[in-house]
Amino acid sequence: MKLRAGIDPKLTSRWARQTQLVRAGTMRSDFGEMSEALYMTSGFTYESAEEAEARFDGRAEGFTYSRQSNPNLSMLESRMALLEGAEVGRATATGMAAMTAALLAGLKAGDHVLGARALFGSCRWLMDVLLPRFGIETTVVDGTNMEAWKKAVKPNTKAFFMETPANPTLEIVDIKAVADLAHENGCKLIVDNVFATPILQRPMEFGADIVCYSTTKHIDGQGRALGGMVLCDKAWDEEFLFPYYRHTGCAMSPFNAWVTLKGLETLSLRVHSMCDNAEKVATSIADRLGDVRHPSLDSFKQQNLALAQMDRGGTMVVFELPGGREQAFGFLNSLEIADISNNLGDSRTIATHPWSTTHKALAEETRLELGITPGLIRLSVGLEDANDLIADVMQALDKAGV
Ligand SMILES: *Cc1c(COP(=O)(O)O)cnc(C)c1O
Repeated sequence: MKLRAGIDPKLTSRWARQTQLVRAGTMRSDFGEMSEALYMTSGFTYESAEEAEARFDGRAEGFTYSRQSNPNLSMLESRMALLEGAEVGRATATGMAAMTAALLAGLKAGDHVLGARALFGSCRWLMDVLLPRFGIETTVVDGTNMEAWKKAVKPNTKAFFMETPANPTLEIVDIKAVADLAHENGCKLIVDNVFATPILQRPMEFGADIVCYSTTKHIDGQGRALGGMVLCDKAWDEEFLFPYYRHTGCAMSPFNAWVTLKGLETLSLRVHSMCDNAEKVATSIADRLGDVRHPSLDSFKQQNLALAQMDRGGTMVVFELPGGREQAFGFLNSLEIADISNNLGDSRTIATHPWSTTHKALAEETRLELGITPGLIRLSVGLEDANDLIADVMQALDKAGV
């Protein structure tokens, strides 16, 4: 049985985003299955020894081994690449596998990486611990301060790394300004775009060279499958990413790629409904607490920049309880609908206490420097009814004595 070629990319690139999300990249076998088949196979066979040789030479198209590619990964990668406006996507086992690949693939001992200080906890560990261990110098700066970025560039700087909006503070970094500075200095800009999703923000439109996702978050979005994605141009993939990817073995499982493909079909619907809910929840909490962070609120300090880069404010709402850790715990323990968990972008609303969980590995002074205080709550707003969510948050604030 031969795998029929996918839908002509010339056609899919003309489609609107919602059509791409449902159909782009689809490949059908001779059985003509409607939904993408699941290719749980580690390897592939060849009609002849000559065919095997030709595929290994790259003269014949086709798959060889699922550590390098597989029909499910290929479908997911082409759909994500089209969505992002990238030439190539590589699906990885987790989001952290994607971030690690994006950093390590193109760097060597003696190089320098410049990053925004407000990064996902494990991304900070890569910058602070892993890269220096291999002789790659790193510096982190206040990502909102362009002067700080400029001052920290060194002759050996090769890559810039940032996240916007940042987890969990929703700090916004100006993608175009950082991309321009990176390019003036002959560097690549890597953006972790997890919080915004490709529905709300496409960093390559502002000059980013490499965009990374944890597909575990909104892209699967239903709490089922870990995964990640690195998106870039063909030249960088050929020289750096693909050799790293195939030889280090960070590929996504075909099963997870198949689940994640299904997630893409409803990504835009879910993200927009979650944004509707997040805006309503943020407004209600703001009426009560005053200080709530969501880019849709006029009180959000970086609203202009956020909405210049993002179509909408996103699905995350962040606020601080005056009573610190004790009150934050009281609030979390009183929630009846929202779950206490550390995931995000799920169809179920999730409440997190970053101080004691996701960001606990960072030194106390680093957490405080990032604005992660003991009273900070991060709410990943899901797909439940907005009024139920507001009522849940209000009764939990009451019980916590806010
Ligand atoms: C979750 C997350 C990651 C890591 O993704 P995993 O799939 O959990 O490995 C990286 N960056 C951000 C911003 C995240 O939220």
